[in-house]
Amino acid sequence: MTDDASPPVNDIVLEGADDGLCLRFVNTVAWRKAKTPEERLPSAPAVLDWCLGAGLLENEAVSELKRRWEERPCEAIAFHHRVLALREAVYAIFRSRILSEPVPVDALRVFNEILAASPVRRWLAPSGDALGWSVGSPRSDFPALLAPIIWSAADLMSGPRVLRVRQCEDHKGCGWLFLDESRAGTRRWCSMGECGNRAKARRHYLRTKHPDVGSTSGTAPDRG
Ligand SMILES: [Zn+2]
Repeated sequence: MTDDASPPVNDIVLEGADDGLCLRFVNTVAWRKAKTPEERLPSAPAVLDWCLGAGLLENEAVSELKRRWEERPCEAIAFHHRVLALREAVYAIFRSRILSEPVPVDALRVFNEILAASPVRRWLAPSGDALGWSVGSPRSDFPALLAPIIWSAADLMSGPRVLRVRQCEDHKGCGWLFLDESRAGTRRWCSMGECGNRAKARRHYLRTKHPDVGSTSGTAPDRG
C-alpha cells in the first residue's frame, strides 16, 4: 500500500549519513594546501572504490557500473567530472565558513543544482536495525549514487555544527577538513597522531635549535 505516509514496499533505503561523511569526501584531496595536492579520486572507478570503502555501495553495484563504463567511457568521464565539481563546491563552501567569508555564489549554485537533482528524502523506513531514507527504485546516475554525501554536506552546512568545521593547520599543507569536537573548540590539526605530532616536533626543534626565533619560521621537511 502506498499513500503519503508510507513508502512503496520496493523502495531502496539509504542510511542517513553522519556529519563526517562529506568531510571525508572533501579530504579525497590530500595535501590540499601544499604545492602538489594529491588526488585520490583520479577516475570514475576510483570514485566507486571509495564509495565501496565508505559503505555507500555494494560490491555488486560497483562491478556492474565498472562493466557498464567500460562500454561507455564517456559516461564515466562525465560522472567523474561531476563528482569532482561536487567535491570542490563543498570544499569552497566550507572554506568560506571557516574563513567567515561570504559563501561563493558559483560553488553554491553548483551544489544546489546537484542537491536539487538528488533523491528526495520523503519517507523513513527500517534499514537493518536503524532507519534510513526510502528513495524509490535503485538508480545508478550521479546524484543518486552520492546522495548520502550530498545530504551529509547539506545538513552540516545548514546546521550549527558548521561552526565546528576546521581546516588542518599543518605547516606542510595537509589541508584536510575536520570537525572539532573538543570542548574548547580550539583543535588545530586533523589528527594528533600525524599532523599534530609533526607540529609539536617542529615547535620543539625550533625551540631547541633557534631559541631566539619565533615559532613560525623554519624549513618544512620533505613530505612524508
Ligand atoms: Zn592534517
